[in-house]
Amino acid sequence: MRTHNLGYPRIGSQRELKKACENYWAGKISLTELLHAGKQVRQENWKLQQDAGIDLIPIHDFSYYDQALDTSLMLGNIPSRFLPLVQQEKKSFPTLYFAMARGYQKGDMDVTALEMTKWFDTNYHYLVPEFYKNQTFSFVSTDVISEFLEAKALGINAKPVMLGPVSYLLLGKEKETGFHRLDLLKSVLPIYKEVLDNLNRAGAVYIQLDEPCLTLDLDESAKQTFREAYHYFAQECPGIKILLATYFGELGENLPLTCLLPVDTLHVDLVRAPEQLDDVLKQIPDNMSLSLGIVDGRNIWKNNYDDSLIIINKATQALGTDRIWIAPSCSLLHSPCDLDMEMNEKVLSGEVKRWMSFAKQKLSEVVDLSKIATLQPDKETENRLAENRKAHQSRLSSALIHDLSVQARVAAVQDKDMERGMPFDERKKLQSTILNLPLLPTTTIGSFPQTKEVREARAKFKKGIISKKDYADAIRTFTQETVKIQEEIGLDVLVHGEFERNDMVEYFGEQLNGFAFTQNGWVQSYGSRCVKPPVIYGDVSRPAPMTVDWINYAKSLTEKPVKGMLTGPVTILQWSFVRNDQPRSATAMQIALAIRDEVSDLEQAGVKIIQVDEPAIREGLPLRKVDWANYLEWAVKAFRLSVSSAQPQTQVHTHMCYSEFNDIITSIAAMDADVITIETSRSQMKLLDVFINFKYPNDIGPGVYDIHSPRVPLVAEIEDLLCKAMMLIPVGQLWVNPDCGLKTRNWDETVQSLKNMVQAAKNIRSNE
Ligand code: GLN
Ligand code: ZN
Repeated sequence: MRTHNLGYPRIGSQRELKKACENYWAGKISLTELLHAGKQVRQENWKLQQDAGIDLIPIHDFSYYDQALDTSLMLGNIPSRFLPLVQQEKKSFPTLYFAMARGYQKGDMDVTALEMTKWFDTNYHYLVPEFYKNQTFSFVSTDVISEFLEAKALGINAKPVMLGPVSYLLLGKEKETGFHRLDLLKSVLPIYKEVLDNLNRAGAVYIQLDEPCLTLDLDESAKQTFREAYHYFAQECPGIKILLATYFGELGENLPLTCLLPVDTLHVDLVRAPEQLDDVLKQIPDNMSLSLGIVDGRNIWKNNYDDSLIIINKATQALGTDRIWIAPSCSLLHSPCDLDMEMNEKVLSGEVKRWMSFAKQKLSEVVDLSKIATLQPDKETENRLAENRKAHQSRLSSALIHDLSVQARVAAVQDKDMERGMPFDERKKLQSTILNLPLLPTTTIGSFPQTKEVREARAKFKKGIISKKDYADAIRTFTQETVKIQEEIGLDVLVHGEFERNDMVEYFGEQLNGFAFTQNGWVQSYGSRCVKPPVIYGDVSRPAPMTVDWINYAKSLTEKPVKGMLTGPVTILQWSFVRNDQPRSATAMQIALAIRDEVSDLEQAGVKIIQVDEPAIREGLPLRKVDWANYLEWAVKAFRLSVSSAQPQTQVHTHMCYSEFNDIITSIAAMDADVITIETSRSQMKLLDVFINFKYPNDIGPGVYDIHSPRVPLVAEIEDLLCKAMMLIPVGQLWVNPDCGLKTRNWDETVQSLKNMVQAAKNIRSNE
């Protein structure tokens, strides 16, 4: 039995690489210093894995920005717009590398970055490879070889890791018509061969090729591409043993195909898809080894050794110990680094910490499991097994987790609790007499610029430099100014600006029972950006109102309606580490009930419009279509449960950032929000095409300008977009708003843009 790892977090346990990159971009450190920082993180990671007792250690999982970008550079897939940069500047790394990642603006050069998108259903974002019809490839970045030699020189038993050719192609995008990206396989394979040959000559035996696309729905041509690619390797690179890594789900109907690929070892994810084990054991050929992905790479809970050992024993009985490898389910990139750094009891209680495990701890879990399974546990392993059992016992029976009143409330939820109690058309009439809004009402999505002053006030309060009262005073001032500015701009429905919130999930999590936070639980989101997701460990309840005071204060400053602003249950769930002892849907219902109470309290306080943001509802979609219906059903239920305590006369809004609704539009409609605001400006309202065939019943605010850019939109441009929207949606159903919250913008741009937006709405109103 062998232990290995698929990848390790590369930001560094103190976010060293993040800081080094940002300092380098800001011109504060030199390239040499950046490379030094990278090398240090990389080597520390190797050492740490070696010390933990991992047999085969991944290399080239390290990256200064993103592994898909690294693969593009390895294959020489550099779109032509970047070439002048290489030629003019005579620099390949890092100018080109970071230009592809972040764009490049200098002098008269203005090159846009590669597109970025979510890595499967994680919160990690990769840079999307671009493909052109007759493109050629060549072995450009040789990092994988140099890292292998670097590791070898340090005595590391290294296993180079690369994104496999088929997933690499599938995860990219065609940038011209007349071909399919899989057609490029033939041009890509020889480069992979060159890499593998070089690695082989350098002494590498095992090479991990990641093919996570094998857990997706594949059409026949994709399947054929897999066959072609891996038969090519078997033929052309006989000295190399390929570990084919699949993760994030079950192989399902791709299993027979996968088992016929001529590779040395197959890695399967048994955390996401434990039920696939029996089929895998049945179908795996005699000459293939099996890597059991058994320690959860996507969550922060301790592995349950006894449960894992049952699985391992079953596999060893079927295949023999020699053919079994033990590993985390996927790369540990998606886990925070080191639980040992959570030293502050006040931030993370010892009891909850005892149930958790971060990347470093997960390595020991892998090694422990292998030692116990092969009946070679040393004293320390035996102690850890005992502690593992105790920790699970304590978690299951802990009073911290179980709140009988919450459970009883969820059990008592009835269908009528998810109904607004009056059809939309009638609600709309009631609401319009109360709110008396003009045609094409104008509003914003919630946040206003989080300026340096706002962030400084928060930082000072967190550090104890200013008192709670001083902080609240500062927030009040920001809110007051923001309400005044919105009135001056002439917006119809105002917001308070969200200055008291650092993050739209953390703010609520901090006030809910069942949530814990970490000090250093950072996970890479993209490039140097990291997030620190809250941990939902127990039954969720709301001890006290969370937003009422702030909304009340804003409301007291104006005659105009002020929206109450909440984050929805699915988004809170999606952006947290969620407990794994009950279905996610059950946790979603608990959060929904907490939000529901907040909705009631806001209403009691006289708030007439309440917005419950669900930007993450689309990204929560399962990877496979067969699982969508089930997810959408509970996600829509959770949303409806959270808002249906509202009286018919209270107007419920929701907001979503991603608006590719084509395949889920009926579920979006089923949420039955009175108003939904969405992102559409960057696509020039193209995203509204879904409404050609689908008559969306309720009101809708398609974003009329892009908040990701500092550019101020012209009145005429906005009018133009609104006219486009009016071709597809009756004007009486339309709202006018930006694409998303304004927190990342500055005040000048914001005021100018919103003034233009209000003017555009007025111009169209006067023509109607
Ligand atoms: N209300 C939030 C804001 O304006 C919504 C953010 C989001 O959609 N991600 O910031
Ligand atoms: Zn948004």
